[in-house]
Amino acid sequence: MKVGRGDLMVIYGGMFAGKTTELQSAMRRAVLGNKSAILFNHERDTRSGNGRVVSHEGVVCEAVSISDARQILKRVDGFVWVGIDEAQFFGPEIIPVALELRRMNKRVVVAGLNMDFAGRPFGPVPELILHADIPMLKRAVCKICGEDAIYSQRLTDDMQTTIVGGREKYEARCAFCFEPPP
Ligand code: ADP
Ligand code: MG
Ligand code: ZN
Repeated sequence: MKVGRGDLMVIYGGMFAGKTTELQSAMRRAVLGNKSAILFNHERDTRSGNGRVVSHEGVVCEAVSISDARQILKRVDGFVWVGIDEAQFFGPEIIPVALELRRMNKRVVVAGLNMDFAGRPFGPVPELILHADIPMLKRAVCKICGEDAIYSQRLTDDMQTTIVGGREKYEARCAFCFEPPP
C-alpha cells in the first residue's frame, strides 16, 4: 500500500458543537477504508472516562487516555490515522507533536475547544488552528434563541478555567445571548 502524505485537520468550536462526533466519524471512516486508526484523549476528560471517548450523543469509541502529548509519538507505529480529542487540556507541546505526526505522514485529526467559558483562547487550540491543512469550525445551537452558537456558557459561578462537565454545567450560546463572567 502506498503511503500518502500526512495532513492535519483541526475540529474546533464551543461545547455541544459536534466536535467529538466529527472526530469519531473520521476515525470510523478510516477503519471502513481499511486504514488503521488510533484515538487519544486527555486523562482530564473524566466525562468520557479513561480508555474511551464519549460524545454528547452517547457514542463511545475506544481511546488511549494520556496526560502528556509526547506519549502520542511513542504509540502511533503502524497507524495511519491519529485522532486526539479535548486538545485544550494538553500543554503547548501538543503543537510540535501534531506537526511531527503530520511529517511522519499521519492523517492527524485534532478536536478541541477554541475558547474557554469566558471567551478566552483555550490552551493550544487557537495556535493549532493556524497550522491546520483543514480547519473545521463546528457550531452548536444557541439554547436561548436557536441561532448558531460559538460560545460555551458556564451555568455555575466557578471561575477556574477547567471545570469538566456536560449539560448540567454548560450551555451553547450565540454571541448575542452569551453572558461572559464578571
Ligand atoms: P462536542 O464534542 O463539540 O461537545 P459532541 O459531538 O459530543 O459535541 O455532541 C454533539 C451533540 O450534542 C449533537 O449532535 C446533539 O445531539 C447534542 N446537543 C446537545 N445540545 C446541543 C446544542 N445546544 N447544540 C447542538 N447540539 C447539541
Ligand atoms: Mg467533545
Ligand atoms: Zn442566542
